[in-house]
Amino acid sequence: MPPVIDIHSHVILRKGFLNTRGETAATAAELVAIMDRCGVDKMVILPLTSPEALHFIQSNEEAIEACDQFPDRFIKFCNVDPRIENNGLNHDFVRILQYYKDLGCKGMGELVANLWWDDPRVQRLFEGCQEVGLPVTFHVAEKEFNMYGLISEPGLGGLERALKKFPRLQFIGHSQAFWSEVGPVSEEERGRYPAGPVRPGGAVPRLLREYPNLWGDLSAGSGCNAVKRDPEWGYAFLTEFQDRLMFGLDICAPGNPTPLVDFMRDAAGAGRITRTVYDKVMGLNAAALLKV
Ligand SMILES: [Zn+2]
Repeated sequence: MPPVIDIHSHVILRKGFLNTRGETAATAAELVAIMDRCGVDKMVILPLTSPEALHFIQSNEEAIEACDQFPDRFIKFCNVDPRIENNGLNHDFVRILQYYKDLGCKGMGELVANLWWDDPRVQRLFEGCQEVGLPVTFHVAEKEFNMYGLISEPGLGGLERALKKFPRLQFIGHSQAFWSEVGPVSEEERGRYPAGPVRPGGAVPRLLREYPNLWGDLSAGSGCNAVKRDPEWGYAFLTEFQDRLMFGLDICAPGNPTPLVDFMRDAAGAGRITRTVYDKVMGLNAAALLKV
């Protein structure tokens, strides 16, 4: 059986301060229980090193230590904030990225800093990731403030410029502001969960067609909604980009729902996508990209 790999998750070493919903991220043991329930063999862990997203910040070392509790179940990423070490506009990130790569990290992210794609700090980080050979998982934001993620104008122009400028860097797309653009979006829909039929002309399919270094992370409500809101369109999308879409759940708290598992199983079971497409999206693509 081909492996099932979750491309996007987070972990904490121990429970601490809770958010206003009374939640915090899952421990390694809680994640393994979810993986066993959902039939997931391995899970990519993205350290939470930037202040914008959650109610806590963790170090790469903490995330790595949590992964090491179940070394055969977790795939490590590092996460380097573009503002690290003096917030410089010309910082060289190669040394730190190479350090984490040598420790076994297979990628960089989730990049959630609320900076513009073209910001020199972000660009230097991309240069480093390209040189060291670490794929980048990114969260797109549709605005600055009250938000996390790299800020993009409508149409994902900042991402497109980066895809062009860093052709050897593999970009893994994620978030509402990314997945809402599978079709043309109004300003109200952008960065949310648009419903109903997907009309042609969206930025995401165009960028996937034009740039072989763009991959899609189907995790969270955003990725799941992109393929589920218009199932016929979703099956065709999964089939067209079967070599670059990757299954994921983005478990941010142990109680998070996992609807993509059923959607993918049902799609394959009913013959709406082939077994080959299912196997690639559920794990073979992640294994090929991350060389695991
Ligand atoms: Zn996440």
